[in-house]
Amino acid sequence: MIFLDAAATTPARREVLEAMWPYLTGEFGNPSSHHSLGEAAANALSGARATVAKVLGCRPGEITFTSGGTEADNLAVKGIALARRATDPALNRIVISAIEHPAVEESARYLQRVHGFDLDVVPVDRHGVVTAEALRAILRPETALVCIMYANNEIGTVQPVRQLAEVAAEHGVPFHTDAVQAAGWLPIGVKELGVDAISISGHKLGAPKGSGVLYVKGRLKLEPLVHGGGQERGRRSGTENVAGAVALATALTLAHAEQSGHGEQPGLAGPVSELRDAFIRSVLETVPGAVLTGHPSQRLPSVASFCFPGTSGESVLLELERLGVVCSSGSACAAGSDAPSPVLLALGIQPEVAQTAVRFSFNSTVTSAELQQAAKAVAAAVGSVQGLGRR
Ligand code: PLP
Repeated sequence: MIFLDAAATTPARREVLEAMWPYLTGEFGNPSSHHSLGEAAANALSGARATVAKVLGCRPGEITFTSGGTEADNLAVKGIALARRATDPALNRIVISAIEHPAVEESARYLQRVHGFDLDVVPVDRHGVVTAEALRAILRPETALVCIMYANNEIGTVQPVRQLAEVAAEHGVPFHTDAVQAAGWLPIGVKELGVDAISISGHKLGAPKGSGVLYVKGRLKLEPLVHGGGQERGRRSGTENVAGAVALATALTLAHAEQSGHGEQPGLAGPVSELRDAFIRSVLETVPGAVLTGHPSQRLPSVASFCFPGTSGESVLLELERLGVVCSSGSACAAGSDAPSPVLLALGIQPEVAQTAVRFSFNSTVTSAELQQAAKAVAAAVGSVQGLGRR
């Protein structure tokens, strides 16, 4: 089986399992306990925090561990917006892009529905890019927060985050970016990016499901969403997932070094982008009518996404799986839903075409031979589904 659904999730890496194992077994302490087992757990947690902070180029105190990307996004959107409005009731608007993950979009809609915030949705161009002009045009003196994802999970488009964060900063508005898909593949230094908050998820990087991180710049206030014993400096109560934090820190460090590069050492992002481009070319050449979705070059090294007009995405997926290739029709969260993807509609793609979307996403171990075989399978699968439609 060729697994081309790494944007949905990745297997846990051996190094990660080895790093977390002690905290699930012998060193199982609660970091809040005042005995040696508890202290060992607290040390492991602060080590994991320092490791993540090093990769992000921030202070350990600016890192909050969460249960995943969804919780990190919820905490950022709700926590920052509510805290800002508490200091100034006029700060009553939130800006999100038209292609955010539901973890961001639904958090913003919750603030609108339950807390009376106004929501401004900044449009994207036909490749899924938010331009600095579009963001500038939508900002108001009442804007409390801007949330624009780093890289999109369905189409792979990478935003000019640094430029967009600068626009927000010119207006004195904090900028959050969902880097769940970008982390590991793209530069993630918070100072270089100029962002105030970043969400990351462990299971996209080779850690088990259920661990995440939210970075929030020190001076920014954050209203907690989970109340209790005051763990994570009061930002996220609940006994900490020590093994999960160690796993995420290990996975992030490894992915960052291997894929983005290390010092003078180039990473795998370049070579994987070349494999992606060869795959895209092959699909576009061999599948009649195939359309690439997302930006032709400003895209994640690991994502190739298409529409195959005249098919249904779900039938192509079934046929591909029969041929030994596992991929997805878009985001894992929207899988199983019949509605066309809001991300593709936001690019101006017609609903009947959007329903034919298929996403291929790889991890850095993908080979040229696998992708060549996958491209052949795509041509065969689309051909047989189109043939069925014509009968
Ligand atoms: N944000 C993006 C861009 C994602 O792709 C995902 C997961 O697919 C999430 C957030 C949610 O992360 P998690 O699965 O860790 O809750």
